[in-house]
Amino acid sequence: MTLHLYNTAHRRKEEFVPLKEGEVGMYVCGPTVYDFAHIGNARPVVIFDVLARLLRHEGYKLTYVRNITDVEDKIIAAAEQNGESIDELTTRTTKAYHDDMAALNAEKPTKEPRATEHIDGMIRMISKLIEKGHAYEAEGHVLFDVNSMPDYGKLSGRNRDDMIAGARVEVAPYKKDPADFVLWKPSTDDMPGWDSPWGRGRPGWHIECSVMSEATLGITFDIHGGGRDLIFPHHENEVAQSCCAHDGAPFARYWVHNGFLTVEGDKMSKSLGNFRTVLELLEEAPGEALRLNMLSAQYRQPLDWTAEGVKRAKASLDRLYTALQHLEDIEAGPIKPAAGVIAALEDDLNTPQALTELYALAGEANKATDGAEKARIKGLLLGSGNLLGLLQQSPKEWFQSITVHLKADSIEARSELSSPVLTSVISKENIETLIAERDEAKKQKNYKRADEIRDNLKAAGIILEDGPGGTTWKRA
Ligand code: AMP
Ligand code: ZN
Repeated sequence: MTLHLYNTAHRRKEEFVPLKEGEVGMYVCGPTVYDFAHIGNARPVVIFDVLARLLRHEGYKLTYVRNITDVEDKIIAAAEQNGESIDELTTRTTKAYHDDMAALNAEKPTKEPRATEHIDGMIRMISKLIEKGHAYEAEGHVLFDVNSMPDYGKLSGRNRDDMIAGARVEVAPYKKDPADFVLWKPSTDDMPGWDSPWGRGRPGWHIECSVMSEATLGITFDIHGGGRDLIFPHHENEVAQSCCAHDGAPFARYWVHNGFLTVEGDKMSKSLGNFRTVLELLEEAPGEALRLNMLSAQYRQPLDWTAEGVKRAKASLDRLYTALQHLEDIEAGPIKPAAGVIAALEDDLNTPQALTELYALAGEANKATDGAEKARIKGLLLGSGNLLGLLQQSPKEWFQSITVHLKADSIEARSELSSPVLTSVISKENIETLIAERDEAKKQKNYKRADEIRDNLKAAGIILEDGPGGTTWKRA
């Protein structure tokens, strides 16, 4: 099998063939950095991380670009509301975003351009669009003239009426057509702004991605991704800008869109207020469990986020790590993904099927008796885990890990949230001191004290297991 992806542009699953043999360019719309990311925002990150891992596994030299939108009206509004500077806000929320995504085992993109670093390119592209008759200036704004592009609406399959009624389309008196969208808008003195041929102003959101994708991947590139809410107007407008600026040269070749993460059927979103931040969820479950839960649905299907789902994901990881623990003394055979896992992912990233294959491997591991067989299975478990971004720690670390899977430096950066989290967790040293005290109590035949220590630890979520080699512990 070879990789097949559902291409929104043609509304069908297609074999993936890159533009240039052996190389892939992929652009995924990144966050607007004005607040903490919610778990819905993490869905594209985890999905495209799996796709990136798969493409690299298949031997492609991948350039994975995910931008940071650090100039946008929501940022201006949030900075004003919080009483902090735009710089402080974007620096703080970008760092939080990096920490959250790392906690979900999402690898860094190859390039992470920031919109504010590409303003010159945006001014150049807008000027080109005006020159070519695709854009016009009106009252300090520059607007894209949708009627200048016969194919406008093709990606999203929208007709004119749908477009005007559609989300995020602003009606304004200076537009020739209500569907025309902003490329540049004026800034007041207290707003971020750059000098331009149309006065001091700032770019619209859509032009940012057209310019950053060209700067990092070229005019035509392989994969463009994001959540399905971006198909219209954001991606439709990117296509319009990029194709018209380059005389019709193709833009992205495969458009890949993830479905919504929902709460009781509604899209998780800031505006509905039904969101849980990644940071909050990391206090309740390890990042790897959140990730596995995310992968439990195929990416184009809706995924309803529930506490029950997270609990099941954690239990699944407990089973997988238990299987690995049984193989602790075995040196792994070749670390490579199981054929079934690869085949599942090559079929439009069928992650539920890939997980089923992984669980089957764990079952085989538990049954295996022969040493060579155990080594082979261990290699497949670890290799498949790497492809999915799971099983990224040792079984010992998994069972001992504290509820919050954040690195010390990121905890510090989240000072207001760090203290209740940290104080609710007993340190490893304290646990080991108590185990030593319990051993001593047992030696002294003080079984009452020994039991008391075991019960107290149990109440704090620490399970002791007595074995021939002494007492080991894990977190419940
Ligand atoms: P935004 O900051 O709203 O532009 O979202 C950043 C990314 O998260 C985009 O790719 C969105 O499509 C995606 N996204 C936002 N909300 C959800 C959701 N509830 N489910 C899945 N993806 C989402
Ligand atoms: Zn974008």
